[in-house]
Amino acid sequence: MTMPDAVASTAPEPCDLLVRARAAFVMDADGTVLSDVALAVRAGRIAAIGPADEMARRFAPARTLGSAHHLLLPGLVNTHNHTPIMVVRGMVEDVGFAPAYTPGVPQGDMLSEEEAYLLSRLGLYEMLRFGSTTVVDFYRHPEALAKAAQEIGLRSFIGGRILDADTAALARREWRSDPAQGEATLREATDFISAWQGRSPLITPVIGPHAPDTCSPALLRQVAQMAEAQDLIVHTHLHQSPMEVEIVQARDGLRPVELMQEVGLLNRRTIAGHCIHMTEADIARFGAAGAAVAHIPVGNAAHGSVAPIRALEQAGARITLATDTKSGDMFAAMHMALAGTRIRGAGFAVKSHDVMRWATVGGASALGIAHEVSTLREGSKADLVLLDGRAPNLAPLIDGPGLIVHSAQGGNVDAVVVNGTVLLERGRPTTFDGDDVVAAAQAVARRLWERAGHTPRIADAVAHAH
Ligand SMILES: [Zn+2]
Repeated sequence: MTMPDAVASTAPEPCDLLVRARAAFVMDADGTVLSDVALAVRAGRIAAIGPADEMARRFAPARTLGSAHHLLLPGLVNTHNHTPIMVVRGMVEDVGFAPAYTPGVPQGDMLSEEEAYLLSRLGLYEMLRFGSTTVVDFYRHPEALAKAAQEIGLRSFIGGRILDADTAALARREWRSDPAQGEATLREATDFISAWQGRSPLITPVIGPHAPDTCSPALLRQVAQMAEAQDLIVHTHLHQSPMEVEIVQARDGLRPVELMQEVGLLNRRTIAGHCIHMTEADIARFGAAGAAVAHIPVGNAAHGSVAPIRALEQAGARITLATDTKSGDMFAAMHMALAGTRIRGAGFAVKSHDVMRWATVGGASALGIAHEVSTLREGSKADLVLLDGRAPNLAPLIDGPGLIVHSAQGGNVDAVVVNGTVLLERGRPTTFDGDDVVAAAQAVARRLWERAGHTPRIADAVAHAH
């Protein structure tokens, strides 16, 4: 016996999740914003998106999320982080320069695997809490980063941090090679890559040479060959400081971006953090190669710098946004990125929608997953962020992008979905204990600073019996 057609066509379709929102930012090429909308998720993917009433009739969801007040965005793509560096947050911002070069600060090679894991969880939790669904993370102990990423549940691109410089000499502005460190970090990174290629749907291994001034040209060439042979995305730092430019010029007679080109690392597989101290020729060279910038506007501003992002984009570079660990708030990054283009004299050429594109499609495209995430369309992976539209800083809502970029904050994030799984609801993680993640990282950081000779001025929170 067959079912009558009329009944078959009106019976609601099952779906795993139905997400309701007052407005949805689709992040397609036209900048579509939909009103009074719902999005159905099935088997980790967007099954449909359309008018709320129509979707309510069409689907029988196992569960629902959002409301007529919520604002729906694709998950944000945060392209440059080193989560164990959480240990230095609030401690190094006022003393200048990157922690990897600063003596007296807990360093990567001082962290045990377990310490790196506990700090990494904090960094990832913060990124999740503030709306990142895809993150890049590279540092020592990549296995610990991957373990943390699996626990927190984010879509992650993870790598080891490769370098062969004697960092103590670098702090004195001298280049001296440390081949043992080069060998150890390269082995750690390559072991990680072979262990994780194709192993997890959410974790993709990448290769992360630290920077042109912390890696010798020979090491960079080795990395370039591996990236080519194994089709890996390359994460690095480039033109981060005047010191880096000075050291590379003295060592190789080249600008850092020229060195990267010469060793075969300036191309479409490269995502370079910072790109601040660049001449017009550097910008043109970088842009012509079609490489991607991981723009870190908040971290750069704290060091007194603004990268020439508008000029890089006009030269052909692909722009992505990142928080670089010391803040996990991509909304702050969007806000500062837009302000930065105006500080650098681009006037009002860059608009809010452009910056939202950098924070979503830009990052996804540089990571090679733009066809899978970052646009709310049927068939895409369900990586979603809901903001609570009742927050006073989210009114009035008339058009949309300007309010998101100039006024929204990470704290407005109410729910996050990654790969169809609800990881955050009403601002709280649903699959792990967030308070435990924070407390464990606090204990590790305190111990590491004490070991580095620093006496904390603030006691740890006293645990009370509930
Ligand atoms: Zn970095």
